Amino acid sequence: MTATGLDPAAAAPAPAGGVWADVVGQDAAVAQFRRAASPGGSLAQAWLVTGPPGSGRSTAARAFAATLQCERGTGCGQCRACRTTLANTHPDVTVVATDKLSIAKEEVRALVMTAQRAPATGRHRVVIVEDADRMTAGTFNVLLKSIEEPPPATVWMLCAPSAEDLAPTIRSRCRLVTLSVPSSEVVAELLRRRDGIDESLAVRAARAAQGHIGLALRYATQEGALAAREESARTLLGLGGTGQAVLAAQSLVDRATAEAKEHADVVATEEKERFLHSAGIEDGKVPPSLRAQMRQLEEDAKRRQTRLVRDVLDRYLLDAHSVLRDVLSRQLGTGSELVNVEVAPEIEQVAAQGSGRVTLGLLEAVQEARERIGGNVPPLLAIEALLARIATSLR
Ligand SMILES: [Zn+2]
Repeated sequence: MTATGLDPAAAAPAPAGGVWADVVGQDAAVAQFRRAASPGGSLAQAWLVTGPPGSGRSTAARAFAATLQCERGTGCGQCRACRTTLANTHPDVTVVATDKLSIAKEEVRALVMTAQRAPATGRHRVVIVEDADRMTAGTFNVLLKSIEEPPPATVWMLCAPSAEDLAPTIRSRCRLVTLSVPSSEVVAELLRRRDGIDESLAVRAARAAQGHIGLALRYATQEGALAAREESARTLLGLGGTGQAVLAAQSLVDRATAEAKEHADVVATEEKERFLHSAGIEDGKVPPSLRAQMRQLEEDAKRRQTRLVRDVLDRYLLDAHSVLRDVLSRQLGTGSELVNVEVAPEIEQVAAQGSGRVTLGLLEAVQEARERIGGNVPPLLAIEALLARIATSLR
């Protein structure tokens, strides 16, 4: 550590754009944030950052927090305040992320307490809630007071898919920043620069993820993920009849369940360990007084897995949607680039056999299936019905 508070690692050249380097494809939002953080800017104390999943809401919120804390006041990306904020270790920046279905009222109460405290080292105290849409109505009320009259140095940053996901009382007190879906070009460039992904793989992964940055990274780094997606596209385009559709539906749901379970198990184990640790239990024997809490934890985990299965299936359906959109674009002769270039021959063939009107109907059917699964229709039922319709329409 040197006298300026910068350690040797900080001597590396600053990435272009300092703390904003990884907030890609969001020029308008970045300009809005930077203006607010600049010396003459008007700094709102409650912000609502909205944008579709994977567009970089929490990355943007963190970059803004870093700009507010930056020792040079610019969001340089090099000073200790910038680096610790981006690494989630700045003492005056609290980030709440949740894998749970909802954010508990007690959790928000604790946050409100934190928000009341003056900053320890930085110029501001920043509280970022990554999934503000997972707060229940009662929880919003706990938050409301603190957002209405925060201490002078406190800044709240709520992130959600859309403004409608929050209670009107909350949203009317926040300054709104809207992120858009980043283009696959900027996502590919980010994977290349930030994650060192080889150019052609980055382009493929970004195109497949259709503007979802986290998903693009997964496609680029997870063995077999892109191949599985391609295989699904091929299956969809080759469905020969309802018998095949039923089998394909079952295999899709099985795959989604396995993928969700893998993720849910990791989280559940971590949670259980944290619980046992905080209760001071080392031999794994839970005393009767804590068994109800333990059971609650297990039930939460089960519910989370159910939701995860639906999330994964929704992603598969979005993939199916992109394949059918490619078919439609060929039928209409739009000349636009295919999302699923890997299965271009199959797309051309199906496009030549059918009509645009039929494909449009199928695109609507995919959206309908997504809504049904988002509601409470058993996923297998909804997917079977969809694939059977596709199988009989495409031939
Ligand atoms: Zn800085």
